[in-house]
Amino acid sequence: MSSTVTATKRNYPEEFIKFLNSSPTPFHAVYNIKKKLEAKGYKELSERETWNGSVKKSGKYYVTRNNSSIIAFQIGENWIPGNPIAITGAHTDSPVLKIKPISKRKSEGYLQVGVECYGGGIWHSWFDSDLSIAGRVMCKEQDGVTVSKLIDLKRPLLKIPTLAIHLDRTVNTKFEFNKETKLLPIIGLENEEEKSSADSSNNNGCCNSDTKLESSQFSSLQNIIERHHKGLLDLLVQELQLPNVDSIEDFELILYDHKPSCLGGINNEFVFSARLDNLTSCFTSLCALLEASDVDIENESGIRLMACFDHEEIGSSSAQGADSNFLPNILERLTLLKCDDTDVTCPLNRSLILESSAKSFFLSSDVSHGVHPNYSSNYESKHKPALGGGPVIKINANQRYMTNSPGLALVKKLADDVEVPLQLFVVANDSPCGSTIGPILASKTGIRTLDLGNPILSMHSIRETGCAYDLEYQVKLFKSFFEKYSTLENKIIV
Ligand SMILES: [Zn+2]
Repeated sequence: MSSTVTATKRNYPEEFIKFLNSSPTPFHAVYNIKKKLEAKGYKELSERETWNGSVKKSGKYYVTRNNSSIIAFQIGENWIPGNPIAITGAHTDSPVLKIKPISKRKSEGYLQVGVECYGGGIWHSWFDSDLSIAGRVMCKEQDGVTVSKLIDLKRPLLKIPTLAIHLDRTVNTKFEFNKETKLLPIIGLENEEEKSSADSSNNNGCCNSDTKLESSQFSSLQNIIERHHKGLLDLLVQELQLPNVDSIEDFELILYDHKPSCLGGINNEFVFSARLDNLTSCFTSLCALLEASDVDIENESGIRLMACFDHEEIGSSSAQGADSNFLPNILERLTLLKCDDTDVTCPLNRSLILESSAKSFFLSSDVSHGVHPNYSSNYESKHKPALGGGPVIKINANQRYMTNSPGLALVKKLADDVEVPLQLFVVANDSPCGSTIGPILASKTGIRTLDLGNPILSMHSIRETGCAYDLEYQVKLFKSFFEKYSTLENKIIV
């Protein structure tokens, strides 16, 4: 077994900070995951093509959907359809403010940008932060081709200003605001050019359907130049080195905190960052899969697979969310491949998919609620996960989390083997409870599932706090899962 050769100890916190800072959107997260997979020999597969002949035993592959969800896996040398699959799952998205399709706003001499709330953010934490813009832009190229390009402007461009305390003395006891009218960021001051463009349209500076294009060419939609501030579009053109604004067909852009993620605390024990929910689990499962890659693969009878889905924060129902057919389709393809001599063997029997599912296990990983020192009464008295105390197993009698005792026995065994501490969490009976992709995929596939994740503070704030020490614990646990699951799965009898 090649795992006995220990490499130089990895600095997970530093690597994680880099990953966070280069992943302001799910598109960027998936791009960065792809790069790391490719560096380790993973090859891209397309859902648009047949995989017959291209998927081999011991092979390493990944597939993306919408460039915001990704599934990566390595097939064991002894894999046969019907064998178990060790699956980790996480999500790539976080609550965020997204630029509206018609974003141009002006008020009191300020240029403003209309934004839409995505997910259940702690929106008051967005006030007074320096905000930048990232996402993807659909660009028209020659020959009628439209291509998607990633963009990260990396500049403090916007601000949602609070009102001075002198104008609202109640602000420290009561801070309520309307998300449509008060959460509107400023992006600049109106200049002469902007003023004249305001005169040519009405509706408080926002363009409406009365605005006509000079061109006689029919356009089904209002032109992008009329929908968004010219200054903003110019920034996109500059950054992407496009010939002009007309090259921009459309975009999906979000705002993010310009302040970079960093380590903090007396001993650098904290991670201060946006998107810890849930780039934490994307990062740890990726590190674990990469470290487990090729380890004892010649004796592996299963498949080691990680899945990172978009759209968890809004319920997972989309073509690329955990509630889609993305993962079931991949599992089906892997069990129904036609093959040649060198290919994965396959008797082409649909019941093999069901056998595989029944033998597989899904570690659904999402961050959990670390105990808050100033609000400890909001937690169940005996279930207060500590930052630095290791991954938290989430349990809920009402199945908001999927953990049951056979799953717990499995994870305990994996954690004991690699000396990773675990913690237990239930919510108090008088407290609301979150949920994860665990119940969604478990009910969809029938695969045994356990919910767990590293503890953080201020979940869904623009600036969350996690613990640097917990990263290595989770990587070790997931690596242990990938390497040992197929030999352990028939040893836990229900
Ligand atoms: Zn989450």
